[in-house]
Amino acid sequence: MPMFVDDSPAGECIFCKLVTGEIPSAKVYEDELTIAFMDIGQATRGHVLVASKRHAANLLELTPEETGAVMQTAQRVAAAVNQAFDPDGINIFQANGAPAGQTVFHFHLHVLPRYTCDGLAITWQRQEPGMPVLDELAARLRQALA
Ligand code: AMP
Ligand code: ZN
Repeated sequence: MPMFVDDSPAGECIFCKLVTGEIPSAKVYEDELTIAFMDIGQATRGHVLVASKRHAANLLELTPEETGAVMQTAQRVAAAVNQAFDPDGINIFQANGAPAGQTVFHFHLHVLPRYTCDGLAITWQRQEPGMPVLDELAARLRQALA
């Protein structure tokens, strides 16, 4: 039972087709495990996606090797974005599950160049519940990690 809804079986999803070249993409980089290409809907100028080549719906389905590889590719792409577009900052964004904003259920992360006053809002409300609550939450995670 997958953790999040994956309505795109391996080989049939849009990014699998992009990996095989069945549908076109503006490719930036590829290696054995990863591929980077321009997002068709540019949130900001130079917005790139870094995807696993193998179909994995989300972060929890990547192997440890793929997890390392996608972040290494993201760093390479971020350096290239920095050189090519001279942004004022860069966000790395990655969604798991529809409630988190995921719309394509094949692992990818966004490399988002940021420009002063670009109008892109990534915001959330912060709560400070205090140390007893933080300690309890941390204890649950330590148990899950054990
Ligand atoms: P997410 O909402 O995090 O799942 O991101 C999916 C992203 O895929 C969106 O930003 C889309 O613009 C992008 N996208 C969808 N189809 C294509 C495509 N054929 N080529 C490039 N990017 C795509
Ligand atoms: Zn896929």
